Amino acid sequence: MASLTLNLLKDELPVEQESLVLSGEVKTGLVLVDLVNGFCTVGAGNMAPRQPDKQISGMVDESVRLARGFCENKWPVFAFLDSHHPDIPEPPYPRHCIAGTDEAKLVPALEWLENEPFATLKCKDCIDGFVGSIEKDGSNLFVDWVKNNQIKKILVVGICTDICVLDFVCTTLSARNRGFLAPLEDVIVYSHGCATFDLPVHIAKTLKDAIAHPQELTHHVGLYIAKGRGAKVVSEVTFGAPKEP
Ligand SMILES: [Zn+2]
Repeated sequence: MASLTLNLLKDELPVEQESLVLSGEVKTGLVLVDLVNGFCTVGAGNMAPRQPDKQISGMVDESVRLARGFCENKWPVFAFLDSHHPDIPEPPYPRHCIAGTDEAKLVPALEWLENEPFATLKCKDCIDGFVGSIEKDGSNLFVDWVKNNQIKKILVVGICTDICVLDFVCTTLSARNRGFLAPLEDVIVYSHGCATFDLPVHIAKTLKDAIAHPQELTHHVGLYIAKGRGAKVVSEVTFGAPKEP
């Protein structure tokens, strides 16, 4: 997409972004959305990038950096893994992330999370991780994670900014506003820790039933809508020492 058009749209839909310093003073949890091969690793499937993708690889690098920092500090991490039964499709998307395949596994740089005591992993078979956390008995693994860890802020990273990240953020904000997530106060989306897939309009036009999905624009719109629903958006996340008393 032409950068002039993109800049005009960004001017009309501005997303102000702050920076976040993580000091451990406020209980913060990290939420990783779908850092699985099927969405992040080149050539790994129908929904994976077909060639190296800067936005996606940058998102993976930042997610790995944050996950390491959180675990070193013994802070809680919650990871969603998209994972589908082979006989149950997820329209409008093509077949992806079938349970038990490499597509449904964490990216190589995050495989260590499987054995990490401070990480909770949750396979989900729907777009919205909040809904995907509902168990058969009606309990919700994500809600329990927030409450058991007394989390006041969540920092959300992953893919796709405008799909799985956005839906999870919106539902979480509604649940928070209804009082289901106490003591959770803030839902923070890290822009460089998020990414989305690229299907430019000139390619979508050549495919049957494909909807154009230009990466830069849809990533931006995802952040814009998240912010409009009440999330905070940050463009920088650093680990800092707690303030002197
Ligand atoms: Zn899926």
